[in-house]
Amino acid sequence: MSALVDEIFRVFREQGAGAYLGEPVSMTEHMLQSAYAAEQDGAPQRLVAAALLHDYGHFIHEYEEDAAEHGIDTQHEEVAHAFLSEHFGPEVAEPIRLHVAAKRYLCATEPSYLEALSPASILSLELQGGPYSPAEVAEFGESPFAADAVRLRRYDDVGKVAGLTTPDLEHYRPVLEASIRT
Ligand code: FE
Repeated sequence: MSALVDEIFRVFREQGAGAYLGEPVSMTEHMLQSAYAAEQDGAPQRLVAAALLHDYGHFIHEYEEDAAEHGIDTQHEEVAHAFLSEHFGPEVAEPIRLHVAAKRYLCATEPSYLEALSPASILSLELQGGPYSPAEVAEFGESPFAADAVRLRRYDDVGKVAGLTTPDLEHYRPVLEASIRT
């Protein structure tokens, strides 16, 4: 259990210092800020864990960091899910798999959401297929994890504040350990 968290934190330390593409924070800062936002919101443990790990796919996919600028969708949500679902239950892994879908859903259903997206997020939205059609919105809503995915998405979106102080990775060790499948 601890060995898995050690491994995950090692990957954060090795891969997470790089910029979160187009945003004024590093990848690790972004994910810590997202987890902190979930925590501050009183989110259940599963969502704090999901927020901390939601972009783990950016660490382990095989593309260059600036793939989006070259028109490549790395499908980081699927990459993260493939790894994380081996170790965590669907209550953690599924909202992560759906966090890009949640963005496409919110863009289709909340005009103000689309307007507030950062330039980098608008670029990736195009690569990810753009706002959902009405049929896709309905299909997304049928997932039992849709509500959690939307909530995770909002923690993702606020985790882009330059210089914000958050707890460190170790603060979240108990949350991760409690979420690991036994
Ligand atoms: Fe993110």
